[in-house]
Amino acid sequence: MRTIDDLFAEAGDLRGRRVLVRSDLNVPLDGTSITDDGRIRASLPTWQRLTGAGARVVVCAHLGRPKGAPEERYSLRPVRDRVAELLPGTRVRLAEDAVGPSAQAAVAELRDGELLLLENLRFNAGETSKDDAERGAFADALAALADLYVSDGFGVVHRKQASVYDVAQRLPHAAGGLVLAEQDVLRRLTTDPARPYAVVLGGAKVSDKLGVIENLLATCDRILIGGGMVFTFLAAQGHEVGKSLLEADQVETVRGHLATAAERGVEVVLPVDVVAATAFSADAEHEVVPVEAIPADRMGLDIGPRSAALFAERLADARTVFWNGPMGAFEMAPYAEGTRALAQALAAVTTAGGLTVVGGGDSAAAVRSLGFEDSAFGHISTGGGASLEYLEGKALPGLSVLD
Ligand code: ADP
Ligand code: MG
Repeated sequence: MRTIDDLFAEAGDLRGRRVLVRSDLNVPLDGTSITDDGRIRASLPTWQRLTGAGARVVVCAHLGRPKGAPEERYSLRPVRDRVAELLPGTRVRLAEDAVGPSAQAAVAELRDGELLLLENLRFNAGETSKDDAERGAFADALAALADLYVSDGFGVVHRKQASVYDVAQRLPHAAGGLVLAEQDVLRRLTTDPARPYAVVLGGAKVSDKLGVIENLLATCDRILIGGGMVFTFLAAQGHEVGKSLLEADQVETVRGHLATAAERGVEVVLPVDVVAATAFSADAEHEVVPVEAIPADRMGLDIGPRSAALFAERLADARTVFWNGPMGAFEMAPYAEGTRALAQALAAVTTAGGLTVVGGGDSAAAVRSLGFEDSAFGHISTGGGASLEYLEGKALPGLSVLD
């Protein structure tokens, strides 16, 4: 894989060179305030290395899920403001669009060592289009803004999108420091991990995450499951799950995974109790119930205290832990305790010298909002989906294109 060092070696001095950097700045927002700036902070070193060398840095990124047209609530302005705070002394501007005359004019005004942020890529339909020609046309417009391309948005390298994949085919390109660092950690998880190796899965993107389980069954010693995805497992075991998140069409697949795990001697740890609420709301009536007795009119929004203790016990002797997906709807205080207990269990493994990796945008936001320091974990990954696809053994288009 080509790295920034290769760019320096080939281009010599980067002074005055326009470098387009794809970063992942898809931060969680509460209105216009950023609730976790981890992805912005993780992106800084690559930008600073380039601006420090006199390059004119043009950063492109997406925020949220606009549908190919501008939407004020998905503007990158709050991100621009945060970047300006984090880089005092560097002029940081925001272009009105990612391509076209406004972007071209903003790039033309850039001076050496300055940074320009392009407006949300996904305000343009070409960014995520499945049509190669439409995506290609947008990538042409992006490529026209720069001389070199650096791919540093680890959270999107599993996407075949214009700013990740197509633009790399149009400019001399390299992987940025964040992408390389993330890849190093994942390599440690896939190449002879210290054992016991435990994987904890949770969160809400159930069908996305079920795919990785098959592959993990071949490499890990234990799988602990919580969050929204656990109800598909409980249903597979014949439990009534009430109004909980359930992927009914995946129940058979999950049964197959449970059988494979049993054959291979991989321990699957499921909750024994859950916090069952009458609605998806912090004010809803809720109580802890055993998994055998989830009332038909309630939804499980967190693992219960007995499960939290069980999970901590099954992680205590682990030497390697990969965790993706909160154990509950942690954004609401009554359902945050399972996630807190899990973060504590990982922190203990870190202290004992094990490698702990937290992956996923919401998982990272969860541990930080619960007051854990980044140093409580070996690594907090900026990319959930990308990490999972890597662990699944899939080829990631945004990485293969950098070879
Ligand atoms: P990540 O971004 O870390 O990969 P996901 O996006 O898959 O994680 O899931 C995070 C979301 O899952 C959170 O917003 C959380 O509220 C939600 N969640 C967790 N447990 C449940 C549950 N039992 N029911 C509904 N939503 C849940
Ligand atoms: Mg998420």
